[in-house]
Amino acid sequence: MKTKRRSFLKGLLGVGAGAAVVPMVANTATASGNKEPSDNHMGMFYDATLCIGCKACEVACKKANDLKPEYGNYDIGGINNLDSTIWDAPGDLSVNTINIIKLYQEGETHSFIKKQCMHCVDANCVSGCPTTALIKQDNGAVTWEEDACVGCRYCQMDCPFNIPKFEFNHYYGKIVKCQLCADNGLLDKNRTACTDVCPSKAVIFGKLKDLKAEAHHRLAADPARYNGQVYGDTEGGGLGVIYLSKVPFEKLGLPKLKNFSYAAVSEGVQHTLYKGMIAPIVAYAVIVFAAFKTLSKNKENH
Ligand code: SF4
Ligand code: SF4
Ligand code: SF4
Repeated sequence: MKTKRRSFLKGLLGVGAGAAVVPMVANTATASGNKEPSDNHMGMFYDATLCIGCKACEVACKKANDLKPEYGNYDIGGINNLDSTIWDAPGDLSVNTINIIKLYQEGETHSFIKKQCMHCVDANCVSGCPTTALIKQDNGAVTWEEDACVGCRYCQMDCPFNIPKFEFNHYYGKIVKCQLCADNGLLDKNRTACTDVCPSKAVIFGKLKDLKAEAHHRLAADPARYNGQVYGDTEGGGLGVIYLSKVPFEKLGLPKLKNFSYAAVSEGVQHTLYKGMIAPIVAYAVIVFAAFKTLSKNKENH
């Protein structure tokens, strides 16, 4: 059985199915290009060199989005068992913490870093969701729509930043992530809770194109202050949240990504394969031909 399957696959390659389809896919995947952000695309710009780690943005985010406090790993004396508490110490993003400030420290060097959904211009989570429960809005926000979600959690696997969280402890668990304050109504007023309260303007909100111009202006005006790059300019095809920092971005947990969106690549592959249904028909004809060839060879051998 194994030998027959192997000779069939050999036959497939022999008649050139792979040779016909693979180059078409590769060419289109790289040629599809990155999406441009809409003119109305809003976003955030976080300058780590200005952040004082006060966590006012975390508190404001929880308040605006009605999220519960968390206790991280700091269960001192079983305080978590109390019905009420006066403190909140989340260890990471979770279903109750959709915006977090973390501290990086190495010797004398330290930096804070803000983590939340990046509202990617061409978001992998949007492209990967089979039911369009994740939507890229014209104002830039990537929003999750409860009614359309089937709980498959493809978005979790597709996100390069590990952002969407799932409520495992609920029967109909929700996907939870920063919605750029779209759900709580602030985005409609051209505001977000975290940027409203930042005392040092380390995180600011505005039109993405203006924020990018500001980031490049700061970089050019004081290059020694920064590591020489605006993160989010092109990473993953461009992000709705951009960063400046002195510390290399990878040390702050921002992954090194290609300068194109993986969503664009996978869409390019699909469009190439199904364009005019030519590739599937060619592939099908080749497979049938190879199957007949293998069959007659097997008959001859018996
Ligand atoms: S950061 Fe992740 S969840 Fe947010 S838009 Fe990008 S892919 Fe989607
Ligand atoms: S934009 Fe709104 S939801 Fe997102 S991190 Fe800021 S406060 Fe939280
Ligand atoms: S409110 Fe501003 S300064 Fe304070 S932790 Fe958040 S980003 Fe940093």
